[in-house]
Amino acid sequence: MNATNTDLRPAIVNPLRHLLELLDRRAFAELDRRARAQGWQVIRPSLLTRVYRNRNFDSLSPCAACAGEGVTVRGACRTCVGSGRVRS
Ligand SMILES: [Zn+2]
Repeated sequence: MNATNTDLRPAIVNPLRHLLELLDRRAFAELDRRARAQGWQVIRPSLLTRVYRNRNFDSLSPCAACAGEGVTVRGACRTCVGSGRVRS
């Protein structure tokens, strides 16, 4: 058996893996749908694992005034209001 046969017939070659794939898709279907509807990125690093990421975070960069710390020697950074991030 080679890798091509495995790819073409996953349910026959590895029925447990196929069952886990089905359970994975069913368990996360609603969460994935809602995340995508809101424009979030859905990452599937492994079975039964999801990472949901809001793409709005792509537009943030470290605040230059406080070097991303959110504070300066005078207290909370006024530029980023203490978050350490600003919109780029
Ligand atoms: Zn700042």
